[in-house]
Amino acid sequence: MLSVLIYSFHTKTGKYLQITYSLLLFVAGCGLTAILVITHDASQMYYSGLILVIFYGYTFSGLRLRHATASALAVTLVYSFVSSHGIKLQNSMILNNIFGLISTNVIGIVAGYLLEKYRRKDFLQTILLNIEKEELKIANSRLQKLSYLDSLTNIANRRFFEEAFEKEWHRAMRYSYPISLLFIDIDHFKLFNDHYGHQTGDKCLIKVASILKTFGSRPGDIVARYGGEEFVVLLSGTDADDAIRIAEEIRLKIMDLNIPHPLSNPGNVVTVSIGLTSIVPYKGLSKETIITTADTALYKAKLSGRNQSVLLPASSE
Ligand code: GH3
Ligand code: MG
Ligand code: MG
Repeated sequence: MLSVLIYSFHTKTGKYLQITYSLLLFVAGCGLTAILVITHDASQMYYSGLILVIFYGYTFSGLRLRHATASALAVTLVYSFVSSHGIKLQNSMILNNIFGLISTNVIGIVAGYLLEKYRRKDFLQTILLNIEKEELKIANSRLQKLSYLDSLTNIANRRFFEEAFEKEWHRAMRYSYPISLLFIDIDHFKLFNDHYGHQTGDKCLIKVASILKTFGSRPGDIVARYGGEEFVVLLSGTDADDAIRIAEEIRLKIMDLNIPHPLSNPGNVVTVSIGLTSIVPYKGLSKETIITTADTALYKAKLSGRNQSVLLPASSE
């Protein structure tokens, strides 16, 4: 018994555990039968031990029904054989005992069958439940992704920007690195829409977004549609010099798209104005400050004739 117990703790696959365990029960049954032979007078006491061993095999042992049945029937056969040959008991008593063992087997098989059925059902239900949980998780994360995506341009939306900006702001504060914020607004877009219609306007927004997508590839960078024809780019770890260079690059790339806009000047193509600001966040400074500053810078760019980038230091509002 000890060796089986040790084996059960050390086996990784448990491949032969059922067979070993059922053999163990058989040996226990044979052991009891042997005691019956040795102790003629007290044999009835040990006989009830056999019933317990058989019943244990069918129920609490955790054996599969076929293994439990094999070992219990083998014990029953051994007892039947030994009692009719080796024990001095009245014939009626022997018959009665064999009948008792067979009845225990019948009850044990029914109990074992029901237990196994419920165990399998439980096992399957647990698997199904885990699959459902996994599916729910996937659906939730898909939903969350969708709720952060702008459906027209397929870039992040304002909700995502606000949540990500909050995190990035605090990270930049903790590690004392600069962040730059660019507000990008298409020039005379209302006129573009009026002239070409809303659908062409949508296509233009998609093209502009696809240019913006190529910027802001560092971890912590954010490119999002802020609303309407306004976009926002947050450049993490980027100071004012680099930010104005990138802003100009963005502005020129959008001009290079060469989307005709007869009512816009100059060049009669779609252009953007960019307001930007840069700062190393510090305790006590609200992140709204740089949003307002970038917005003011954008307003200045518009006033100064559009199609340009204007940088303002974050402290000036
Ligand atoms: P400014 O140069 O001063 O920015 O002028 P603007 O005409 O671009 O600015 P305004 O705010 O007057 O107009 C923005 C226009 O953007 C109004 C609306 O027709 C257009 N717009 C906003 N959202 C969408 C959209 O999802 N699709 C399309 N096609 N147009 C949009
Ligand atoms: Mg505009
Ligand atoms: Mg606007």
